[in-house]
Formats: sequence, C-alpha cells, structure tokens
Amino acid sequence: MADYKYILALDLGTTGNRAILFDKQGNIVGQVYKELTQHYPQPGWLEHDAAEIWRDTHSCIQKVIDEQQAKVAEIAAIGLTVQRETCVLWDKTTGEPLHKAIVWQDRRTAAMCNKLRDMGKAEEIQQKTGLVLDAYFSATKIAWLIDKVKQDQPDTNWDNVLAGTIDSWALWNLTGRQVHATDISNASRTMLMNLATGNWDDSLLDLFNIPRNIMPEIMPSMGVFGNSDREVLGAEIPIAGIFGDQQASLFAHGCDRPGLLKCTYGTGCFLVAQTGTEVTRSHERLLSTVAWSTDKQTNYALEGAIFTTGASIQWLRDGLKLIDSAADTEPMSLQVADTDGVYFVPALSGLGAPHWDMNARGAFFGITGGVKREHMVRAVLEAIAYQVKEVVDAANKDSDKPISLLKVDGGATKNNFLMQFQADALGVPVERPVILDATAQGAAFGAGLAVGFYDDYQSLIDNRQIERVFEPGEGQEQAQANFAMWSKAVERAKNWIE
Ligand code: ADP
Repeated sequence: MADYKYILALDLGTTGNRAILFDKQGNIVGQVYKELTQHYPQPGWLEHDAAEIWRDTHSCIQKVIDEQQAKVAEIAAIGLTVQRETCVLWDKTTGEPLHKAIVWQDRRTAAMCNKLRDMGKAEEIQQKTGLVLDAYFSATKIAWLIDKVKQDQPDTNWDNVLAGTIDSWALWNLTGRQVHATDISNASRTMLMNLATGNWDDSLLDLFNIPRNIMPEIMPSMGVFGNSDREVLGAEIPIAGIFGDQQASLFAHGCDRPGLLKCTYGTGCFLVAQTGTEVTRSHERLLSTVAWSTDKQTNYALEGAIFTTGASIQWLRDGLKLIDSAADTEPMSLQVADTDGVYFVPALSGLGAPHWDMNARGAFFGITGGVKREHMVRAVLEAIAYQVKEVVDAANKDSDKPISLLKVDGGATKNNFLMQFQADALGVPVERPVILDATAQGAAFGAGLAVGFYDDYQSLIDNRQIERVFEPGEGQEQAQANFAMWSKAVERAKNWIE
C-alpha cells in the first residue's frame, strides 16, 4: 500500500453531502461540503432530489481532490456512509430517479402503518426486523413510490426499475451503473430485512408488494462492493466500506463491544449501543439493528432514534427566521437565565423513541407575555437534551449497568450550551472528540481496514482525541426538575392529528 496516501470518505447526510480525505493516521486532511435542498411538498412530508445528491457528491469529490492537490491514484479506497431509510426508485436505462426520494423523516405513510397495525402485523414485523412498525423505515415508503409511479407513469417497464437507499444510489452511480448493492446496516433499516438471515424477507416483500428483483443485493459493510468507474472518477478505486450514518459513527467511537455506546447529534439524535454478535431485544421500544458486518461476523446494536433535534435548529433558521445561523443559538441561550417557563416539543416529524407516535406534532407550551425569542431558542436546545435523556433513561431500564458517560459527535455537538445542559440533565459527563465528523471517520476506518490501508482498528481508535468533557454542574438540579414539566408538554403534544 506504499503509494497510497488517502481514504476518501463520502458522508451523504440529511442536511448535506460531504467528501473528506483521511490520511494514514486517520486524520482529516481536507473536506468539501454542500448543503442539500429540502423539499416540503405537504405538511409532514420531506423529499430530496436524488439527482442533486449524486451531482453534489460528484462535485464534492472533485473539489476536495483539487483543493488538496491530491491524485485520484493516491486514494486507496472509498468509504460511504449515508442518511438511512431514505429511499429512491430509478430507471437503470436512463439513470434518472422516477420520483423524488422520500426522506426518513417523512410521515406520508403513517396511515399505511396504522392499517398494518390494525391487521395485527406489528408484532411479526418487530420479530423479524427488530424495528417498531413506523413510517420512519423504508418499506412503506418504497411501497408508496411504487404505487405513485404505477399511477403517474403507467408505461414504466418494471424490468428496468431499481430501488434502494441512498448508499445503493451512490454506489450504482460511482461504479458507472454496474453494481446494485447495499450494506447490511442500511438494509436492516428498511423493515424488509430479516435480522436472523441477513437477507430480504420474502413474506415482508409480499406484504408491501415490493418485487424482489428491484431490490439491491445485501453485502457485508466491510469488503469490496465494486470499483469506481474510470469515466466517473478518473480511476478505479475500490468502494470498500458502506455503513448507515449512525453505525459508522458507532464504529468510529470504537464501540465494538457490549457496554459501549454513543450519541450522534445531527438532524435527529441517535443513541446506539453495541450489543455484540447476538441480537438483543429491548423492553423499552428501542430498536434492534445491525451495527456492521464483515464476511466473517455480524455485530448488532440497540438504538434509540430521535427524529427531530438539529432539524428544529434548521427550522428556527429557515422557517421562523429567528436566527441567522445554527451557531447563534448558543450565545442567545446564554443571554437568558432560563426559558421563562417555555417548553418545546420537537415533534416536527412525530415522535420516535421511546414514544413512537406518528401523530404527535411540534408545540411550544407555557408562553406568557414576557417571553422573548431568546427564551424560545433556549427551550429548543433544552428540548434536544431532554429527548436524549428520555432514550438514555430507556436504555438504562433495559440494562443492568447504567450509562455513566456519554460519547457524542455530530454537527450540533459544537454547541457548548447544549453539551453542558446535556450533562446537567443526565447527571453524567458528556465526552466530545476533536473530530465531530465521526460518521465520515467511521466510513473511512471501515474502508481503510478492508483494503489494508489501515492495519489496526484499535490503534485508530486510540489515536482519536477527546477535545472536552462536560461534567454535570450547578445547573443540574434545575435541569432535572424541569424535565418533569417538559414530559408533561410531550404528553399534551401526542396524538395531535388523527
Ligand atoms: P446530518 O448528518 O443529520 O445532516 P450533521 O452532523 O451534519 O447532521 O449536523 C447538522 C445539524 O446540526 C443541523 O441540523 C444543524 O442545525 C445542527 N447544528 C449545527 N451547528 C449547530 C450549533 N452550533 N448548535 C446547534 N445545532 C447545530
């Protein structure tokens, strides 16, 4: 591997797409980011343009290589990590998406899920997939897309249609339209994969009316999926690691044994705990999911998925225009001593763990005449921390050993107020690494290890540095006392739309 200098990580997230070059020590040497357009065609719906995702991915790759004056031939492998559950149908002859991609936060298939629940299917689905029946996962979204395309484009030749999550879409494009595959961690989020077999479940495909031949092949997370096409990137580089974004960050944090866990703060927050090589089931409505696999071994995890955290900051910026940038929320929150009795319920896309209420909607409670925008902004940040506290409490109930430290990463962990409030609300330290892009880092580590560019996982983990530990402080008592009031607000916002 002497001539190789880099691993290229592609982090295709909900807010935006990123290409990052990592060096031999596992450090970032350059990165290019482009924010992604969010389309809200109806309340509770969210779409992405898959063509834009691929276009931006391609241009981010070109730019990061140019800016670093790197040579494509110096890249040993590509690691890919993506927003999970978001899915797309496309035509393999034209390469064009047949409809906008339906994003994981989208609630349009809630009624379909309720119908399945009424049919008594929830338990079977949970048993097979490890997931709670919810519009969050891909199955009902793919079913919706198929129906829509059949309706709007009746002449479609279904032999030419391919389906997949964003990793499949990017992989197919990277490989010059050759490889239609997905990794097992992304597949485990579709609600179509049987956890016991690691393959598509025929009875679930039947239930959702999804033809098996449009689905990608499920492959191990670490290993070569195919090579980039020379026409596309200028060289044949192996795509050697694919992970769902949360699983990638779990890998980067070194959480490879039971007892280790992390929480990522992006569009949503995701607490993921490694459970080893056996599937573990939760009593607290946490999800059982695949962490990652090699051709020899599959690791599993328990997960508390919270849909709306950083997304509520985007909403303050783009919807309400209360702030100019996400970073403004920190100084604004520090300008006031508390929220003046205001509580925010971030159910903008319903509620995920531990409530799983597709009919909840966002709400501010406790507003009186003296409330200023700083109080509202602070209430939004506090609500992020309270939602994480709910899933930490759930994970503690599931386990005989309580969580004593929270390892974090993701864009919103830059916010010091949020991190301190999180430590206060939980009463345990919060540990923030130097590199907050753990998602991209995990994909780089996985791909680099698979091709032998990196030879030791543990030394990569040992090289990662902690930037700051937030200890629970004087705000603890207040933060924990207010949690009860916040929980009352959550109860009022539940089952809002029927
Ligand atoms: P994703 O992978 O889900 O797109 P990222 O890890 O890139 O998410 O983080 C982006 C999210 O973090 C956005 O929702 C943004 O609003 C939020 N964010 C970024 N900076 C801050 C900040 N300083 N304070 C609070 N939230 C922030």
